[in-house]
Amino acid sequence: MFLKRLESVGFKSFAERINIAFVPGVTAVVGPNGSGKSNITDAIRWVLGEQSAKSLRGSKMEDIIFQGSDTRKRLNVAEVTLILDNSQNHLPIDYDEVSVTRRVYRSGESEFYINKQACRLKDIVDLFMDSGLGKEAFSIISQGKVEEILSSKAEERRTIFEEAAGVLKYKQRKKRQNSN
Ligand code: ATP
Repeated sequence: MFLKRLESVGFKSFAERINIAFVPGVTAVVGPNGSGKSNITDAIRWVLGEQSAKSLRGSKMEDIIFQGSDTRKRLNVAEVTLILDNSQNHLPIDYDEVSVTRRVYRSGESEFYINKQACRLKDIVDLFMDSGLGKEAFSIISQGKVEEILSSKAEERRTIFEEAAGVLKYKQRKKRQNSN
């Protein structure tokens, strides 16, 4: 599935609005240490539904909002939009181009959109589940993640295989039904 564009404002080190257009083939992001390369993959993981502040390298979700610098005041909202090509219908939605947006306010409130229509976090997670790009899909391998996968417990490894086999969606649905 082709990622066309990433737009963001107020996310981590990106106080200004950024607009990254990806081109077909391999994209490499280069820059000095601490310049925000990993923040780009964090933004992708977050907009796809990541709920763990720890895996976004923070201690609480508020940590992803630009917290100010010597020259700029902190911001009160972070927003990320990912635009994907869906002409091959990898996502179960009848649009050739799909955009997902996530916004969080310092107050803790969140907003989610699919193609600019307000939705729930669950709708975004469900849309990407089994697409190979979900937050559990291991399509984004961060620094240190390979070691973590190799040393993870048998049950954790099982989750990886279940996601790959496409059964995780049904298990999570069943768990939700049982808790209702
Ligand atoms: P390396 O090459 O060392 O892995 P990198 O280019 O991947 O570095 P990142 O880890 O993406 O860099 O970015 C880290 C930077 O982001 C740090 O300078 C940190 O201060 C900044 N940062 C993280 N969260 C915020 C935030 N909420 N507000 C402002 N800056 C932030």
